[in-house]
Amino acid sequence: MTHIGSNENPLRVAIIGAGPAGFYAAEHLFKQNETAVSVDMFDRLPTPYGLVRAGVAPDHQKIKSVTKIFDRVAQKDNFRFFGYVEIGKDLSVADLANHYHQIIYTTGAQTDRNLNIPGIDLENSHAATEFVAWYNGHPDYRDYEFDLTQERVAVIGVGNVAVDVCRILCRTTAELAKTDIADYALEALSQSRVKEVYMIGRRGPAQAAFTTPEMKELGEMEDADIIILPEEAELDPLSRAAMDSADRGTTRKVELIQSHARREPIGRSRRLHLRFLVSPTELIGDENGRVAQIRLVKNELYQTDAGTLRPRATDQYETMPVGLVFRSIGYHGVPIAGVPFNESWGVILNEAGRVMSDNREVMVGHYTAGWIKRGPSGVIGTNKPDAVETVELMLADAAQGQHLHPAQPDPAAIVDLIAERQPLYFTYDDWLKLDEVEVTRGAKLGRPRLKFTTVEQMLTAAGKR
Ligand code: NAP
Repeated sequence: MTHIGSNENPLRVAIIGAGPAGFYAAEHLFKQNETAVSVDMFDRLPTPYGLVRAGVAPDHQKIKSVTKIFDRVAQKDNFRFFGYVEIGKDLSVADLANHYHQIIYTTGAQTDRNLNIPGIDLENSHAATEFVAWYNGHPDYRDYEFDLTQERVAVIGVGNVAVDVCRILCRTTAELAKTDIADYALEALSQSRVKEVYMIGRRGPAQAAFTTPEMKELGEMEDADIIILPEEAELDPLSRAAMDSADRGTTRKVELIQSHARREPIGRSRRLHLRFLVSPTELIGDENGRVAQIRLVKNELYQTDAGTLRPRATDQYETMPVGLVFRSIGYHGVPIAGVPFNESWGVILNEAGRVMSDNREVMVGHYTAGWIKRGPSGVIGTNKPDAVETVELMLADAAQGQHLHPAQPDPAAIVDLIAERQPLYFTYDDWLKLDEVEVTRGAKLGRPRLKFTTVEQMLTAAGKR
């Protein structure tokens, strides 16, 4: 037999997870000419694109145009998509090892980081990640309920996800109706009684995790005032000193925050309050076990030995009435059965993308990229260099003969197995059919698309039922 990586005997790679990291990995595998590759990409949903479909805010359509790049990758001759096939349920890692030379896990971070304060499990206290998945029409979250009869909402954290959640809560129905937000979410939000939204940052304006364009966009909402307490917009001495070496983005962000703090609200229907230097210490419930109040402690900043500014609680507390709480303090990865995992970081154990066993030995043939490799940080494009780093190692390892030795490398064998375990699996053509129907349905309503939000609907629309 010819060597692995020749045209007759291509390197067979399984990519687990059809989000940005998975597609960027596939793109880089196809970009080089040294090693012939064939790629099979798996996703547990029938639809590809991961967080681009289920995470990127519906009012950020431009960001979603990155899917055009992914579609081009999917058109390659040696690319196949198997949607609605879950690794750990329909197929095991051992099944994959039986059919592929290399496996790359790009499953992202599918759950949220926990906030360990009393009352966090009260009714009407949710992970922001659940709300995001709900308004984006993720089939697993479409039946979640959020009590939008509440007038006062707290969003804990000041990252870009918190900003997304605040925007969706503060936008008018007319603004949302132009987006591809799930139809049931549009309906629920059009009935929303939310009036006051509090975004709660534990550090100061100069340390806010949200980016400058996102801050600017908050000020451009049609019917929401931004309210910032002047004393919280003011920088403390340590932050002021750090501004001397701050980048332009941070300087601009602080300027924007301070200019909002100088403005008077102009009587818009909703008010978004940005709070700084406060940490939640407790959610207090009413007699029905529902969130009624949030207790906050005022923080001060101190400098660590490494030079970063961290928050430290003072002895000043305040309590605010709120009826709905979203914790937005970061995503967290979910383990895959049979793949070594670091529970506290929420990532697959790896070195630069090579999966490592619990006793720190390279697991030949197993790789990872994206959030499940490095944790939930950066924008979509950050996953490209991250995936490239992993793929370079995969190619180098393959050239050295360091890969799995599957008993059934014939590309038809895995299709037979999938057909047996999940006969309703989706190909990329099935997805393109679904995509066209969604876009056509949306166009009739003046929307970018009208999403299918249950697997049943997707199966029917793709002609599988
Ligand atoms: P993030 O950027 O890591 O922000 C997490 C926020 O939670 C920070 O403000 C953090 O404060 C705060 N936090 C963490 N632990 C806390 C605690 N115990 N109590 C109070 N606050 C706490 O995470 P994210 O917002 O989930 O976003 C994930 C990634 O996706 C980011 O890289 C983000 O930029 C990206 N993203 C980008 C866009 C976009 O480009 N438009 C949209 C959405 C997401 P500290 O800073 O003090 O730790």
